[in-house]
Amino acid sequence: MNVIERIESSDAPLFSFEVIPPLKGKGIGSLFDAIDPLMPLSPSFINVTYHREEFVYKKREKGYLEKVSIRKRPGTVSICAAIQNKYNVDTVPHLICGGFSKEETENALIDLNFLDIHNVLALRGDPIKTEPHFTPTEGGHNYAVDLVHQIRELNQGKYLDEDLKGAHATNFCIGVAGYPEKHFESPNMDLDIKYLKEKVDAGASYIITQLFFDNSKFFSFRKKCEEAGIQVPIIPGIKPIARQAHLTFMPKFFHVDLPEALTHDLMKCSNDKEIVEVGVAWGKKQCAELLKEGVAGIHFFTMGKSEAVKEIAGSVFKV
Ligand code: FAD
Repeated sequence: MNVIERIESSDAPLFSFEVIPPLKGKGIGSLFDAIDPLMPLSPSFINVTYHREEFVYKKREKGYLEKVSIRKRPGTVSICAAIQNKYNVDTVPHLICGGFSKEETENALIDLNFLDIHNVLALRGDPIKTEPHFTPTEGGHNYAVDLVHQIRELNQGKYLDEDLKGAHATNFCIGVAGYPEKHFESPNMDLDIKYLKEKVDAGASYIITQLFFDNSKFFSFRKKCEEAGIQVPIIPGIKPIARQAHLTFMPKFFHVDLPEALTHDLMKCSNDKEIVEVGVAWGKKQCAELLKEGVAGIHFFTMGKSEAVKEIAGSVFKV
């Protein structure tokens, strides 16, 4: 069953989570160690992020610096297959526009289809760390909506090579990203939601949101989406605060605010253990309210750490 079939066939809200591929040089064991504690909660699906290349400068002889392209967390497609194989749970690979030509995207989709993976979260991806703006890869897509179009075409048996006749049609269920606090590049929320609707109209079956800590922002976003005619399920994304550094990291990297009540409690903590307790308590409160307000599921960002997610999800999903 793909993600939307699971949502539509379930009477209860779904629990799902996202993992990141291990750093290059590490084995897959560390990833399984992060997944194992969450499996008793019966996740409906597990997402695996995609990380594009970065440019670093390597010191060479005589002090020269060489610009080198490296991908620090490769393996999304094979990790999805490994998770499906080991845990018998559906996986959702993230596919991004950045770093991919359309041809490479098509080939990745063909690989996924052969591996019996029929879900994709279609994203644009962030700019390369050393670039101020997102630059599309040569022969690649500008926006996530273009990627959604390409996947939809493949679902209709239309490949890039128009000479291919009677080709196999894939059956991908497509998810896209939404931003309760607006995407940081968007001039305003209305325009951001207009483009979100375009992704849905192009063929996305559901939306997973960026992490947020203030439920009122999610509810207001969901209302605006409804008013704009978006009718697909909107699944909130939740990440518990787990370190002192998250106080500044979350706003800086995810462009989200931390409510005053949360920062007030966090500022009183004297170590990371206390921070985790505050983060878990906040996460439980947030999730309980979201479930009460009828969300189709809650999607957790683990970022390689599953204990806090286990505590929150174990409590609110009552497994
Ligand atoms: P888009 O929907 O293309 O939107 C990008 C910006 O362009 C927005 O400001 C939007 O308003 C605007 N826009 C959209 N369409 C148009 C148009 N037609 N004309 C003009 N403007 C337009 N990043 C990764 O690199 N790897 C991951 O695995 C990953 N996973 C994520 C998972 C989730 C749940 C979320 C919420 C984000 C994730 N990201 C990931 C981050 C994401 O790639 C970035 O937030 C990126 O900057 C935007 O991606 P998008 O798919 O929302 O882009």
